[in-house]
Amino acid sequence: MKENRRALARVAGVLGPDSRLALVGGWVRDHLLGREAGDMDLATALMPEEVMRRGRAAGLKALPTGLQHGTVTLLVEGQPFEITTFRGDGDYADGRHPDSVRLGVTLEEDLARRDFTINAMAILVDSMEAADPYRHLVDPFDGRGDLERGLIRAVGDPLQRFAEDGLRSLRACRFASQLSFALEPDTFQAIGQRLEVAAKVSVERVLVELTKLLTGADPKAGLQLLADSGLLDLWTPELRPMIGCGQNRHHKFPVWEHTLETVALAPADPALRWAALLHDVGKPATRSVDEGGAVHFYGHEALSLGITVLIFQRLKASQALTREVLALVRHHGTHPTEEWSDGACRRLLRKLAEDSLGLEQWGRFRLADQVAKGFGEEPSRSEHEKVMARLRALAEARPPLASNALALDGRALIALAAKRGGPWVGQLQHHLLDVVIEDPTQNTPAELTRRARAWLKEQSSPAVE
Ligand code: ATP
Ligand code: MG
Repeated sequence: MKENRRALARVAGVLGPDSRLALVGGWVRDHLLGREAGDMDLATALMPEEVMRRGRAAGLKALPTGLQHGTVTLLVEGQPFEITTFRGDGDYADGRHPDSVRLGVTLEEDLARRDFTINAMAILVDSMEAADPYRHLVDPFDGRGDLERGLIRAVGDPLQRFAEDGLRSLRACRFASQLSFALEPDTFQAIGQRLEVAAKVSVERVLVELTKLLTGADPKAGLQLLADSGLLDLWTPELRPMIGCGQNRHHKFPVWEHTLETVALAPADPALRWAALLHDVGKPATRSVDEGGAVHFYGHEALSLGITVLIFQRLKASQALTREVLALVRHHGTHPTEEWSDGACRRLLRKLAEDSLGLEQWGRFRLADQVAKGFGEEPSRSEHEKVMARLRALAEARPPLASNALALDGRALIALAAKRGGPWVGQLQHHLLDVVIEDPTQNTPAELTRRARAWLKEQSSPAVE
């Protein structure tokens, strides 16, 4: 941070006092909140060409990284500083991008085009060394007051601002989660009235915003805002039936409330939070009530998997995220008990390994899901710890969990059978793996040879009808 400040002072010096170089937007917001501030957003009264010229004249590297938006990058001590000329936006015909940008406006006009009051403040870099830099805070919309009140409020008329750019509706809910803020009522109302504009946001941006919302500090509030405003239905209509769907005796809370609770309890990791959101999405459609009045959700895991695939395809999620979330959803209903044999526990370890899902990651999800069932944190936690201690101990013994851990490899099996390789090799390996997972002491060449011979003999004898 110190080096940052020094390099920043150098940029300000190079550009000169008439540049009115200012920190703006998210950086100012996070700095005032005492949060770790992300990228520095810098703005200046100078035209981009002039920023390049002054930078180069001082021996700095200057790159025209976004001239169409008025952005230039200066490199100082190897560090990039993105500097954007004060700009106003033209009309937004497509609900996504301004048709044109006007450079050469005042700082106040630049702040007026920003989305929320808390994102529409600036600190002039030259004033930062002053005893009270906030005396120099440029804050035309009382963003500081809204920071103190914990409010997300649109700059200007929210109906118009959400009509210009649909992304803002999502950003509002995302900031509510990240900052644990509320939406100012008119701002909230406007979201519901501009859904058709939000619907135009590219799915790539939607995925980024939803993931930020899910991994925020208060994802329950963020998700509830999506549901209450109607944004939820634009990209994930499959979630709506969870609201109001009652559960069975294994749960204290209805499906939606349990889902929100699971999301909030899961560590703030994208895969864990997405899995928490989607693990029970198959419940409403599989809900049944038997003659005794008991509620069941037969096959809900499989349906949750199918819906997860559908949603992730729609949002163009990466293979890596999809794979991990599917693995978490697939195995969320498996609950080893004390009655389980070691072999059964190892079979679970094998399934997790086949899905490249680490035991600890599986455990993190399970703990959240179990506690969210609402039967007391302590009992759930201690039951979970027992399950994990046993699985960890079994895993630490490094049992064979895949064919490549068998004491006989594929080539040895082919030699043993004295016939050409084919699908039978995989089937035999599968069989041998079943044997050694049940009892790892069987994983020796001699024992596997004996087992393999028996299996081959059985295969070659005619099938009995
Ligand atoms: P974060 O970096 O944590 O995602 P941020 O608010 O800094 O949040 P950026 O995308 O980095 O978001 O944008 C920087 C600033 O640009 C914002 O603080 C805001 O002032 C402005 N801004 C960003 N997106 C929009 C938008 N869609 N409409 C209006 N202003 C925006
Ligand atoms: Mg930012």
